[in-house]
Amino acid sequence: MVIGVPKEIKNNESRVGMTPAGVFELVKNNHTVYVQSGAGDGSGFFNEDYQQAGAIILDTIGQVYAISDMIVKVKEPIREEYELIKKGQIVFTYFHFASSERLTMAMVESKAICIAYETVEDDEGTLPLLTPMSEVAGRMAIQQGAKYLEKPVKGRGVLLGGVPGVPPGRVLVLGAGVVGIQAAKMAAGLGAHVTILDVNMKRLRYVNDVMPPHVVTEFSNEFNIRKHIKNHDLIIGGVLLKGAKAPNLITKDMLKDMHPGTVIVDVAVDQGGCVETTRPTTHENPTYIIDDVVHYCVANMPGAVPYTSTVALTNVTLPYVVKLANLGWKDACEKDASLEKGLNIVEGKVVYKEIIEAFQWES
Ligand code: NAD
Repeated sequence: MVIGVPKEIKNNESRVGMTPAGVFELVKNNHTVYVQSGAGDGSGFFNEDYQQAGAIILDTIGQVYAISDMIVKVKEPIREEYELIKKGQIVFTYFHFASSERLTMAMVESKAICIAYETVEDDEGTLPLLTPMSEVAGRMAIQQGAKYLEKPVKGRGVLLGGVPGVPPGRVLVLGAGVVGIQAAKMAAGLGAHVTILDVNMKRLRYVNDVMPPHVVTEFSNEFNIRKHIKNHDLIIGGVLLKGAKAPNLITKDMLKDMHPGTVIVDVAVDQGGCVETTRPTTHENPTYIIDDVVHYCVANMPGAVPYTSTVALTNVTLPYVVKLANLGWKDACEKDASLEKGLNIVEGKVVYKEIIEAFQWES
């Protein structure tokens, strides 16, 4: 199969859909890989690295789309890419169709095979191609939170690890899922005191088993949240209700109960956030302050660490890419139920029912 890796053209996107290691694996499997010149620059992978792994470099995005049976990328295609996508071409990337009817219509019209990273689902109902980005965001949440706790950026002036003779900072983590556990682990590693809340007892039992004693679990309810926000320095929002808007666990009136300079990192901002006062921010301007509480609500946190994010993402996408290339999309999806769940639009037909529901189309 001929596989193409275009450069991402969405604003501020430095990740790339394949690393040289991926090219090497596909070439080993007798496939041809075309990479657009400079596609990996933002992630620290250069044309020579791809060439050494066996890729052929093409100058323009148009050439990559024109020659490829399968396009492997990161972000959903944007307007300039719509007309480059061909009938019968496999496009394997994040799509998030339900949030854009225009994109959905464009992909229907293209008659391409659109396989969405975000709906590939394993036997346990987890989303293996989303997990690495939550891992990155969870770990980053503590790094960012620690920084914004510093006084010059309006934080409380607390060092998370404390020093001998001074107690460590206190971190409250809402949600013990992928984001929450990675955040708790990083905070615990810095020596902070961590309280982690969830409504799922299985998750709390797991955290209790694997974390050190300065990570304390508690059931998530309004009473406990109101109690803890008063004496924690950094609050991480990592709550998710699958397919729904995040619940507002911290309401505006609660901000006045927090110490001035408390920092909230609401990772769940992409689902509306679990704090009432959350609104999306960017890496250029990541924070704002309401009632003396610093809010950090960057909607694409992994974008700030493209090397780590690209490698983490391609580690999990590559086995599916190889399968699609070796077997073709029909056989690959027939043999792999997880991959089959990734099929969203096939040759002009929407096959993922949540998309039809999102736009209230008739099926
Ligand atoms: P997850 O499903 O692994 O974990 C969510 C957890 O929230 C679950 O354990 C669930 O039981 C818990 N939960 C549900 N209701 C709760 C409540 N009332 N109180 C406490 N906990 C509750 O999800 P995840 O992968 O950790 O993702 C969390 C959020 O982070 C999602 O919205 C995801 O889209 C977002 N995210 C954002 C970025 C970013 O750049 N901002 C990056 C990656 C992920």
